[in-house]
Amino acid sequence: MSIIKVFSVFAVLAISFFSHSVIAMEFHFTKVADKTYAYIGPLTNRTPENLGLNNNIGLVITDKGAVLIDSGAGIPSATVLEDAVSKVTDKKIIAVINTGSQDHRWLGNGYFAEKGATIYALAKTVKTQESMGAGLVDKMTKVSDIFALTKPVTAKTPFKKDDVKLTIGNTMFHVKHFGDAHFPGDAVVWLPEQKVLFSGDLIYVDRMLGVHPFSKVASWQKAFHLAEKLPAKLIVPGHGQVCDWNKARQDTGNYLDKLVKVMSVASEDMLGVDQAVADNKDWPEFKHLEHYDSWHKTILSRTYLQFEEGI
Ligand SMILES: [Zn+2]
Repeated sequence: MSIIKVFSVFAVLAISFFSHSVIAMEFHFTKVADKTYAYIGPLTNRTPENLGLNNNIGLVITDKGAVLIDSGAGIPSATVLEDAVSKVTDKKIIAVINTGSQDHRWLGNGYFAEKGATIYALAKTVKTQESMGAGLVDKMTKVSDIFALTKPVTAKTPFKKDDVKLTIGNTMFHVKHFGDAHFPGDAVVWLPEQKVLFSGDLIYVDRMLGVHPFSKVASWQKAFHLAEKLPAKLIVPGHGQVCDWNKARQDTGNYLDKLVKVMSVASEDMLGVDQAVADNKDWPEFKHLEHYDSWHKTILSRTYLQFEEGI
């Protein structure tokens, strides 16, 4: 089915969906630096109203066209992002760079590719996207069935290297993998001229980071500290408000440091997961983070199990 047909089916679904639903959310990009914008998603979970866009997305305007950093959680998210881009520039979206493999990082790729955009990603990112794509579409379809028509589409020619310098129009983009983190193959996009870092899910602020069974906590901690060497004036984190390194350290780096320190000792001492979680359930310095109550103990437990297995 062509994307046009897919889109018209989506439009019908969306109209019926919105007419039975609460007021639609507003999606817009905010300027963060010269020709550089960010959509800052809410700190909530995925909902039919936010269309899975509870994350941040980048937009850079080059002289050749607009470049998106990440493409949203599927066709419905891609259409609202496209609309938000059109409020900033009348240039076409000519490229999408993926920073990761979680649904809201890349499931909009197919929509933009069909309209002529080139999709860029590192081979390590694409490997995870390929293995998880179908499952992620299913997950988004549970959020709302308007995602059912989304097809996982990856970059045609992924970059084999972990550190790539890409020039699009007159703008330089560096795509870098510092280590597996929230998802295996996570990457960041560094704009050396603007000194802006789009960190993807390497950095979360204002909310708890997410550790899944396949997230690699020790590697994430190392990756964070390697990324810290970038002289970023501004960081657009994967989730939360635009920040600097101090804030990123406070909400992500320090949490990872403590997690690794505490759980490596606990697993070496063979404390057992229940005891390790009980001993660490109160970390007041991170209580301000949204979702602390629902995530912190799960993260402790998953991290202990990883260290016990020696991951
Ligand atoms: Zn995310």
